Amino acid sequence: MSNFNLRNITRALTFGGNPLDRASAQRADPSWLAAQAKGGLFLPFWQNRPLVADARIALLPWRGEWEGGICVFLGLEGAQPLFAIDLAGETPPPLDGEFQEMRPAAFVLPARDTAIAGQGKALIDWHRRHGFCPNCGTATVMRDGGYRRACPHCGAEHFPRTDPVVIMLPVLGNACLVGRNARFPGGLYSAFAGFVEPGETMEEAVRRELREEANIAVGAISYHASQPWPFPSSLMLGCYAQALSRDFQIDGVEIADARWLTKDDVRARLAGALEDEMKLPVPIAIAHHLMRDWAEE
Ligand SMILES: [Zn+2]
Repeated sequence: MSNFNLRNITRALTFGGNPLDRASAQRADPSWLAAQAKGGLFLPFWQNRPLVADARIALLPWRGEWEGGICVFLGLEGAQPLFAIDLAGETPPPLDGEFQEMRPAAFVLPARDTAIAGQGKALIDWHRRHGFCPNCGTATVMRDGGYRRACPHCGAEHFPRTDPVVIMLPVLGNACLVGRNARFPGGLYSAFAGFVEPGETMEEAVRRELREEANIAVGAISYHASQPWPFPSSLMLGCYAQALSRDFQIDGVEIADARWLTKDDVRARLAGALEDEMKLPVPIAIAHHLMRDWAEE
């Protein structure tokens, strides 16, 4: 395998590069947290959408009508405490700006804003869906600024989830294998991906998913980069997989088609120089960087 596997990328991927100090030592202290909230700025969310104004996330002083909403501590930006607040209601609360879906917002927001909004979305979404103890069914209470929920009945503690997902590009010489997921919009080909299952290493998950989806045998697995992906709470683990031959057989269920592409082809397609029905992933997705870094190596 060529040496690209030894050079992990240093640029932050979309939703990565979060600049906030999460103050994990202090945030467990309720009085410290209350003092931060007094001077805090709050990113409002409504239905999992961050408030965006003038292509920036909106950070607003506290408003009394937000009392009772799920409010999580994001961290300190310098000395400035930042929080996210989930606003209820059937219609968007009347604030300056627009509650934008996270995915399209990631195309227009600066990297810092996307990372902060992604953190807020993943946290709030977890709290919205984890109000009751999975152990005994009692309503749980938020602790540590949102990084823990505690059960007052059985004492169980629950922590916000991050779900590891392997995303991998099989490579062989000058070619890589890309697949079209049956759920993808027409023409989009990407790396293969799947959740890491309990009792599995990252490498084993890569091999299993490739066997299941494309029935392709691979040798060495190398790690490339990772990316938080708040839909709702994944951590994408980008890998290359050394294919042992060009033979493959798609499952026809999850993967509708797969093709080998040369480095020249990948470069041309990522640059938008080829106009046909096939599309490769956009730069907000780690799959784009997996392909790009390999093709430009
Ligand atoms: Zn409980």
